[in-house]
Amino acid sequence: MTDALVLIDPAASTVEVSELSAPQLPVTDLSAHRGDGIFETVLVSLSGSGVTVVNRERHFTRFCSSASALGLPDPDPGLWDRALEAVIAKVRGNDPTITEFGVRYALSRGTQNPDGSQSPRGWAFNVPVDEKIVRARAQGISAVSLDRGYDAYLGSKAPWLLIGAKTLSYAVNQAAGRYAAEQGADEALFVSHDGVVLEGPTSNLMIRRGDRLLTPDPEAGLLSGTTQRLVFDHAAELGLKAEYADLGLSEVIDADGAWYVSSMRTAVTLSQLDRNPIKRDEELTAKLQALIMTG
Ligand code: PLP
Repeated sequence: MTDALVLIDPAASTVEVSELSAPQLPVTDLSAHRGDGIFETVLVSLSGSGVTVVNRERHFTRFCSSASALGLPDPDPGLWDRALEAVIAKVRGNDPTITEFGVRYALSRGTQNPDGSQSPRGWAFNVPVDEKIVRARAQGISAVSLDRGYDAYLGSKAPWLLIGAKTLSYAVNQAAGRYAAEQGADEALFVSHDGVVLEGPTSNLMIRRGDRLLTPDPEAGLLSGTTQRLVFDHAAELGLKAEYADLGLSEVIDADGAWYVSSMRTAVTLSQLDRNPIKRDEELTAKLQALIMTG
């Protein structure tokens, strides 16, 4: 897949196709050394009949609420649409046979000007559906639980923690992934300090118990997932009742099926937690993957 990069200037309302391999960001950009910015990653699925940007609106709505939480300027939907379309066109132009890829778009607070003002800047580029994702979709994953370090439902009392905003500060999430790998697991599962299951470092957790599909409440202290909400909106078509719930680790282990869901993964079976096997529901895995892929 050839790389495509689009630079977005929110003040000038322009998008410009550029080179991903060329230097772009001044080291003084506040995203580079403060993680001060926001992003989204959307899955683009292509078939004979056309292009689906999965959950396009849900992603943009979350992008806007993240901007608001960080006090960044409201993203202009027309401008970000143009950027997304430019990346998609470039990738398809370079590889007409491609069937799926991701587009990551970001808004940084930019650089601090001498007069104290800031110059937010944005960008969008393509990311591949890599081998690790393809394998996880087919085979499932294992996870190890890790303390997230705060109690559940802290977010409303501490808005400065930006729990629930999709910021560019992912060093903790990356570290959790590495820690899980050192423990021999594919993924981490964050649990609040008081024992409520939250989410993976880059995905939401869902379990099936009988005819109910359960997921942790975003208010408990996690990112409200676009994929999880898509699945919840269509749960009745799968013969399931969807509900938010406070879950403990033993409830995940005892479930009739468990999944990590996210834009790039779609839905992957969680088959082991803290070395305990979890029942697999491959029929539902296939249905979830097909549902999410068609957006
Ligand atoms: N939780 C976190 C921390 C994430 O980074 C992500 C992925 O971006 C998700 C959940 C799943 O969100 P989505 O389904 O919108 O990709």
